[in-house]
Amino acid sequence: AKMKGRNQYCFYRQEMHQEVAEKLALEKALHGAINKNEFILVYQPQVNTHGQLIGFETLLRWFNDELGQVPPSRFIPVAEEAGLIDEVGYWVLDNACRQLKIWQEEGLPSLFESIAINISPYQFAKDDFVDTIKKVIEKHQIDPSLLDLEITEGMLVEKISSVTEKMWQLKELNIRFSIDDFGTGYSSLRYIQHFPLTQLKIDQSFVRDLSGDSSNSSIINTIVSMASHMALSVLAEGVENLEEKVLLDQAGCSRYQGYYFSKPLEESMASQCLHENVRF
Ligand code: C2E
Ligand code: CA
Ligand code: CA
Ligand code: CA
Repeated sequence: AKMKGRNQYCFYRQEMHQEVAEKLALEKALHGAINKNEFILVYQPQVNTHGQLIGFETLLRWFNDELGQVPPSRFIPVAEEAGLIDEVGYWVLDNACRQLKIWQEEGLPSLFESIAINISPYQFAKDDFVDTIKKVIEKHQIDPSLLDLEITEGMLVEKISSVTEKMWQLKELNIRFSIDDFGTGYSSLRYIQHFPLTQLKIDQSFVRDLSGDSSNSSIINTIVSMASHMALSVLAEGVENLEEKVLLDQAGCSRYQGYYFSKPLEESMASQCLHENVRF
């Protein structure tokens, strides 16, 4: 038993070591990623109940020679810990706004509402965050009401007064705010009414619970009805099949994003869908 314990301990230590080494390798490679043009943005369609395009969520992709394609779920936390998220986040903002300007000039279809951009809490916490947003809007001459900043529940729960203040300053420019992964954090619907929000994004874990044996729509019903009282729109994420879409319709949801409609698209494909006013 003693031997086994020690082996397990060694194994555990080895695993920890591997994890640390991997993070260091990621961090090292991330330092050069922007200059080496290793990032691209992809755009996942957001649609209404008829499958018409209402917006795109901007998602970051990283291709590195040695590491291959690294998913954002792995490198974003490393960028945050290493203090690189500002630079990466600015690259995303700058490039998403440059693309938005192109689409804006080409005359977006009338139903199109916004481009969503994920904002890390670390970015938002920076003193100059509001200025940065204002400058990037100015630089690309975009309509601020076409910008939808996705933030996390955690940022609101921590109740930092500067967060509220920054949100109101941005709200004055007509910028939209969506709460990402809604329902997975600890914020109550009563609590979030103090923030200038536009939309709640229902986390895909709740969408998964809708169909199948252990069907459970009560959380979604609650979110949808409370949101409508607060005049917020609700978008369901991670919709993968028609059954889920129909059940979400029944729950009163009318905005969707997920593989059932479309995977995230590269810029040329996203542009084509916009121009042809594709129905998903
Ligand atoms: P998220 O913001 O919740 O983004 C949604 C994720 O779900 C994306 O993964 C998307 O590709 C995936 N997805 C979309 N539809 C479906 C579906 O039907 N089924 C399933 N299973 N998944 C679906 P992705 O692109 O790998 O991004 C993962 C996370 O990384 C994002 O979660 C977000 O938190 C973060 N992230 C991505 N891009 C950025 C960025 O530019 N900045 C920051 N700060 N975070 C980002
Ligand atoms: Ca998101
Ligand atoms: Ca999400
Ligand atoms: Ca299911």
